[in-house]
Amino acid sequence: MKLTVIYDNEAKEGLQSGWGFACLIETEDHNILFDTGWDGHVLLENMNRLSIDPESIDILVLSHQHWDHIGGVTTFLNRNPDINVYVPSSFSPRLKKEITSRISKKLYGIGSPEKICEHVYTTGELEKPGTGIKEQSLVLECEPGNYVLTGCAHPGMLLIIDKASSFGNITGVLGGLHDSQEYGVFKDMQFIGAGHCTSHKDVIRKMYPEKFQKISAGYSIEI
Ligand SMILES: [Zn+2]
Ligand SMILES: [Zn+2]
Repeated sequence: MKLTVIYDNEAKEGLQSGWGFACLIETEDHNILFDTGWDGHVLLENMNRLSIDPESIDILVLSHQHWDHIGGVTTFLNRNPDINVYVPSSFSPRLKKEITSRISKKLYGIGSPEKICEHVYTTGELEKPGTGIKEQSLVLECEPGNYVLTGCAHPGMLLIIDKASSFGNITGVLGGLHDSQEYGVFKDMQFIGAGHCTSHKDVIRKMYPEKFQKISAGYSIEI
């Protein structure tokens, strides 16, 4: 399985940066886009530079209903409407209707943890009590342990990793880690790919220098 960050607050040379996050997951059977960043043109331009064909993507997963993760949806779906889309079931009915009207396949509202396709699972929509922000993360099944892919990690890393662990041991995490200060959750992991909205990159790097990896658009890893 291969992960490629397409959209991030920071970018490698030759790619555009912008506030937001998007990552491609290539499995044996599927190409999955996780979030779209804010600007769909930046998303498509970065895909072009990374030689990723938008039409090769058959699944779109949206982590949560924030502008920096769903802003690129219309531009992307105009380019590739032949796609299944998975969103937290709490997404606004109007937004779900708009997405449904633009795709030739199906929109799935996710409530509980479930399998999306072979080796890819969702934690289901999670919420840190009182925040009102519901978000799903993905669990990627691989050897010797699973990886978790986060959008903003608003529910907090403890809750996300707790839910994700129901599919097996977690050895790595990649994505936006927001302002999580639950640093102990990374203790037994081998890889911490911190990007997008991660507030405390320096603290995490100091605590776990061998595991820490700053990610940016253009970063890719085989897991
Ligand atoms: Zn967010
Ligand atoms: Zn975000």
